[in-house]
Amino acid sequence: MKIKRKDWKMPQMSRKVFEALKWASSFLTEAGRDENAGELLLRFCSGMSRTQLFANIRDDLADDVWRSFEEAVIRHASGVPVQYIIGSEEFYGRTFIVNPDVLIPRPETEELVYGALKRINRLFKGNQGIKLADIGTGSGAIAITMKLESDCPPGADKCPRMVSGTDISAESLAVARENANRLGADVEFLLGDLLQPFVERGEKLDVVISNPPYIPIGDQEWMSEVVTKHEPARALFAGRDGLDFYRRFMVELPQVLAPQALVCFEIGAGQGKAVAALLRETFAGAKVEVVDDINRKDRMVFAEIGFGA
Ligand code: SAM
Repeated sequence: MKIKRKDWKMPQMSRKVFEALKWASSFLTEAGRDENAGELLLRFCSGMSRTQLFANIRDDLADDVWRSFEEAVIRHASGVPVQYIIGSEEFYGRTFIVNPDVLIPRPETEELVYGALKRINRLFKGNQGIKLADIGTGSGAIAITMKLESDCPPGADKCPRMVSGTDISAESLAVARENANRLGADVEFLLGDLLQPFVERGEKLDVVISNPPYIPIGDQEWMSEVVTKHEPARALFAGRDGLDFYRRFMVELPQVLAPQALVCFEIGAGQGKAVAALLRETFAGAKVEVVDDINRKDRMVFAEIGFGA
């Protein structure tokens, strides 16, 4: 909806915490946004935790806090994702820096990470070191989490889990590197097209994990403008049916996978059958599973290759 300029300011008198929250909630609702974003934005602008905010609910807001809050609420009402305003998003219990150069990591992707970790711990036992690559790493959320969560089996004093993250965008990789530094994750980041950096180095991978762009280009029309106007198109869209990247993976994966390997893909709802078929055609005898997310939508495909029946 269009918001008239003159309606954009909160009445000057009302600057208590609860009044500011109430104003933000009705303003955001009217603009068709999530009304709860107000609380997140006020916490960010005031530096208060949720508990502090509610303990001080009847206190006046400092002028500078109020001004930055008002501006943040107006930006979100106009469509800028809350995470880009705040500059971060939580993923798997850690805080990742985000900006408009990277996709905001989604909760569905936490499920991909969980599924991958479970399978890695089952398939690659003992003191075995493995080499894992996250393709299209964006903020680095998957690669960094896989590195930090990969628990080596008890008694394994040598269990190197080498992790690389790749992206076609140098700007995304800059964010991923910053996240890895802040979170203390030893991850290598490579600029390149899909699996080419590994093809060029002649390197073999034990695990490939990817949340590639998978939205059919036509879906753009009905998607929220919070996504389409603000998140990078290169992170979202993948041709007419959304399957372009999975088709390319089928050409490149056989060149880089170790004889025993695990492939983990996030997919768009409804793409499970098609992506599973691609994997079965490419890797005869592989165990291929389509897994639903907590909203019961097909969201992940895992292929265990070369481990036998
Ligand atoms: N892995 C992150 C996550 O799950 O939050 C970001 C995933 S985002 C859906 C897809 C990413 O793939 C974007 O960062 C985009 O820049 C990258 N990408 C697009 N085309 C690529 C290509 N040809 N090769 C490598 N990465 C690519």
